[in-house]
Amino acid sequence: MISVKSKSELEKMRKAGIIAGNALHFGGQSIKAGMTTYELDKIIENYIVKNGAKPSFKGYGGFPAAACISINDQVIHGIPSKKVRIQEGDIVSIDVGAYIDGFHGDTAYTFAVGKISEDAQRLLRVTEESLYKGIEQAIAGNRIGDVGHAIEEHCTAFGYGVVRKYIGHGVGRNLHESPEVPNYGKPGHGPRLVAGMTIAIEPMINAVGEDVKVLPDGWTVLTKSGSLSAHFEHTVAVTPDGPVLLTKPTL
Ligand code: MG
Repeated sequence: MISVKSKSELEKMRKAGIIAGNALHFGGQSIKAGMTTYELDKIIENYIVKNGAKPSFKGYGGFPAAACISINDQVIHGIPSKKVRIQEGDIVSIDVGAYIDGFHGDTAYTFAVGKISEDAQRLLRVTEESLYKGIEQAIAGNRIGDVGHAIEEHCTAFGYGVVRKYIGHGVGRNLHESPEVPNYGKPGHGPRLVAGMTIAIEPMINAVGEDVKVLPDGWTVLTKSGSLSAHFEHTVAVTPDGPVLLTKPTL
C-alpha cells in the first residue's frame, strides 16, 4: 500500500530531509584526496547524530556504516573502509539517510575529487540533470512510469546505461516503502501519483552498459563493464503545488 502523508507528517519528513541533505552537503565539502572512506563516513555520521537524528542506513539489513560511499565503477552500496583511500580524479557517490521523529530522508550525490576527466564530468552532469527531469514529472495525476521515462530518455540519449536492477522507492516511516520508482518506464503506466506521496527518485547511471555485479562483501554494486557510474537522489513530496524537494540542503 502506498502511504499518503499529512501536512504535519510532511513537515517531519522535511526535518529528516534537511538533516540528510545537510549531512550529504557537509560530507561532500569534507572530501579530501588521501582520506579514507571510513573517515568520511564518520564525519557524516557525527553530523547526523549531532543534529539529533539517527543514520537510517546503519544496521539496515546489517549495513555497517552511516553512509554508502561508492567510488568510480562502484554504483551504490559501497561500504566505508579504513583500507579505501579517496584519490584525486575519483568520483565519489555518497548516499545518506537520516531518521528523526519517526520519518526518514534519503539523498545521494556524486562528487568530483579535484580534476576529473571530461567524460566523467559529462556523466555527472547528465545523471544530475536526469534526476531533475524525473522530479519534474512527480506531479499529482502523473504516473510512476512518467518519472522513470523522463530519466531513461535523457540518459540513453547520451548512450549511457540505466541500471535496472536497483531502483528508487517510496520513503516515509520506513526507509523503503511502496511504490517502486524505477529509472525507466513507459509514460502513463504504473501507480498514479497523488498529493502526499513521498518518493526517493535516484537515477543510477553507468557510462557503459546497464549491467551490474555485486562484490563478495554482499553489498558493493559495481558496473559489469568496469565503466564509471553516477548516482543522484532526492526525497520528493508530491504536493498540490508540484514536487517539493524534502532533502534540499540548507547549509
Ligand atoms: Mg534510496
